[in-house]
Amino acid sequence: AKPKVVVVGGGPGGATVAKYVAQDSKGAIEVILVEPAKQFVTCFHSNLYLGGFRDLKSITHGYGDLAKKHGVKLANTSAASIDRDKKVVKLANGAGVNYDRLVIAPGIDLKFDSVPGYSEAASQQMPHAWKAGPQTQLLKTQLDSLKDGALIVMVAPPNPYRCPPGPYERASMMAHVLKAKGHKKSKIVILDTKPSFSKQALFVQGWERHYPGMIEWQDPKMHGGIKNVDPKTLTVKTDLGEYKAQLVNVIPAQMAGRIVRDAGLANDTGFCPIKPESMQSAMDVNIYIVGDACIPGDMPKSAFSANSQAKVAAMMIRGELIKSPTFPARYTNTCWSLIETDDTVKIGGRYEPKDGKIAAVETFLSKTDEPAALRKQTQEENMGWYKGISADIFG
Ligand code: FAD
Repeated sequence: AKPKVVVVGGGPGGATVAKYVAQDSKGAIEVILVEPAKQFVTCFHSNLYLGGFRDLKSITHGYGDLAKKHGVKLANTSAASIDRDKKVVKLANGAGVNYDRLVIAPGIDLKFDSVPGYSEAASQQMPHAWKAGPQTQLLKTQLDSLKDGALIVMVAPPNPYRCPPGPYERASMMAHVLKAKGHKKSKIVILDTKPSFSKQALFVQGWERHYPGMIEWQDPKMHGGIKNVDPKTLTVKTDLGEYKAQLVNVIPAQMAGRIVRDAGLANDTGFCPIKPESMQSAMDVNIYIVGDACIPGDMPKSAFSANSQAKVAAMMIRGELIKSPTFPARYTNTCWSLIETDDTVKIGGRYEPKDGKIAAVETFLSKTDEPAALRKQTQEENMGWYKGISADIFG
């Protein structure tokens, strides 16, 4: 029988591994992708959807090409548990699927109780929109219905979380929508749970330039800590104040998806240690963990990172199972953030295994006061990246 790879999770991490193992082994390895969703709405560029720069369809992808073009077998269900000793994944319908190598890429779970008063039920009034789909649509509907003079409060998450610049790009997109509708008095208050954030100087300069007075960022010293949120009244209480808002976006703390935690593959950070040379779990040589669920060293939790890690994992798995040639692991990432039309900044780097982690060997960051033409070019790069990476993952 052919060697068998089971992949749990069809996001940028899992879908990329499934594709690359199937494609590059030319049928010599059986690949099964376990994913409950029929279609995947990307979190990446979901802020652009919020800002009206994209429609939902353009960030929604199916798995048909993985099956048709590359021979990946699709199991349209979720994995319920993993028996690591027997090397079997138990599916939600009770069936067991055995594996030679297992890849797990379940993304994140939200720690709803990290914000007092918040819960999964409360996300119907106060959307997190940190998993794309109905939550993103709800946030957009709420945003689009605001009248001038509205107050938006965002509770921003502690590290580590997926997409470090994401909350601040989101605030920019919200301001873009309000400004475009002619709002003069609406305000966005970001109550952060950390003292600083990704690309801070670039965002702050962009906000002053495009949305003067509209976005106010507070670190924990300024608000004293989040005391609680009340979804019924859309109130957020901090130690030092109280905000009665028209829209509240709570982005809670995060941890690896349940399936890897239940399988004993996470440590006390809630995320999964991996070997930086291969993306193999530090706890089980037959299991690889890529994407948001892993501890990625100096890399951020991003779709770009997940896709890059996935290619390393796919190569190493082919090396192990069918003796394909392998090369030393190399990783890359870039995160673009749109601040206002044609004004985009980026951060990124190259990474290699070093000192037991995935370590940055080169980094870059946009500069404040860059010429408008460069920022516009950076946005074109961003749109080109989306097209390229979605074809690379799902095509
Ligand atoms: P996910 O994308 O979360 O996919 C996990 C998949 O696993 C899901 O489809 C889920 O259904 C499935 N799954 C979970 N549990 C099970 C189970 N038990 N059985 C079967 N399947 C399961 N990244 C960028 O690179 N660029 C950006 O511009 C960017 N913008 C972002 C903006 C926002 C607002 C957010 C929230 C994120 C953004 N990101 C961006 C981050 C990016 O979306 C994530 O880092 C990326 O999706 C991680 O991929 P993943 O495959 O690890 O997990």
